[in-house]
Amino acid sequence: MSTESFVEPTPTPLALLLLGRGADPDSERGVECPGDLPAASDPGLVDRARAAKAALGDRVFVLGHHYQRDEVIQFADVTGDSFKLARDAAARPDAEFVVFCGVHFMAESADILTGPDQAVILPDLAAGCSMADMAAIGQVEDAWDVLADAGITDVTIPITYMNSTAAIKAFTGRNRGAVCTSSNAQRALEWAFEQGEKVFFLPDQHLGRNTAVLELGLSLDDCVLYDPHKPQGGLTADELRAAKVILWKGHCSVHGRFALESVVDVRERIPGVNVLVHPECKHEVVTAADYVGSTEFIIKTLDAAPAGSAWAIGTELNLVKRLALAHPDKQVVFLDKTVCFCATMNRIDLPHLVWALENLVEGNVVNRIEVDPDVAHWAKVALDRMLALPGVGATPAHAQD
Ligand code: SF4
Repeated sequence: MSTESFVEPTPTPLALLLLGRGADPDSERGVECPGDLPAASDPGLVDRARAAKAALGDRVFVLGHHYQRDEVIQFADVTGDSFKLARDAAARPDAEFVVFCGVHFMAESADILTGPDQAVILPDLAAGCSMADMAAIGQVEDAWDVLADAGITDVTIPITYMNSTAAIKAFTGRNRGAVCTSSNAQRALEWAFEQGEKVFFLPDQHLGRNTAVLELGLSLDDCVLYDPHKPQGGLTADELRAAKVILWKGHCSVHGRFALESVVDVRERIPGVNVLVHPECKHEVVTAADYVGSTEFIIKTLDAAPAGSAWAIGTELNLVKRLALAHPDKQVVFLDKTVCFCATMNRIDLPHLVWALENLVEGNVVNRIEVDPDVAHWAKVALDRMLALPGVGATPAHAQD
């Protein structure tokens, strides 16, 4: 076995894909915290977070997504992927405040699944998700009109990945569709093909393509890419009518960065290495990998791996670093050579967590995420359709990003 150990990848100018830099201004959310945000250099931050959490006791429930920084994860009551966390929050109806250390769409899902008396709080409102922001509801409704003009909406079932806004989930709910996660996307697509002839998959083209081709046995030619920035999505009516899967042109800025060359390179550097990637990676990366699966699958695969085995992991860097630390008997390396943090996840840092918790102690509910009731109703319809898929509702945790 190679002796190469976990090495922090090289930072690049692209490492932090900051919101607002060439982004759609409509997706920019508030970046200012009313009141004083503690300085990141404050040496008392850990003690302040501990004291605020203790003062709130069972009134607060802190959720930490797997991609969060260690400084935040240490204060999480539970960790997990976004859907597991939303369900964990729903299982704690006694918690008055649910502090979601994750990104905006995750907090929306938690609000949809928790009771009306529970306040879901996102410590930094700028913690969005570049993938979710690639499918704005107006764009998706325009696309549906294009599909209607092609005469195919009656036979098309929309499926949206969990990593989408509540408005997009509601769109799928209203139009006979369902939500999916990366661990049940295959079942969701099979179900959709039982309801209709075509699938309109939002917003992650890679998860949609990888599932359609690798799990359902469709061909790449069965899939077309709808680009919301081109007239008619860049497709003719005949192309839409011939397609089996219409993929939205969205992707994850983190997983989309892994390249085939990285797989080739790591196999040369570490003979016998197992390449394990997330299905949000590009098709050529996924087909070159040994294992593909959700965040929870990645964690379980590492847990079950024999001592001495070598793994190159293609997912978010905070998680890979923690996996490397948790498995000192295995060789765990990051698939890419450059930094691949989720920049928006990283917006939730200790100063923002302290700020949110201390405000709650003082009786100020800050950064509450509240989904419009009609949107929440239809989004829940789409979520419930996912839960009704065979085998899905019985499983305690479902993974996505
Ligand atoms: S890792 Fe990708 S999909 Fe997940 S929150 Fe970050 S940008 Fe969104």
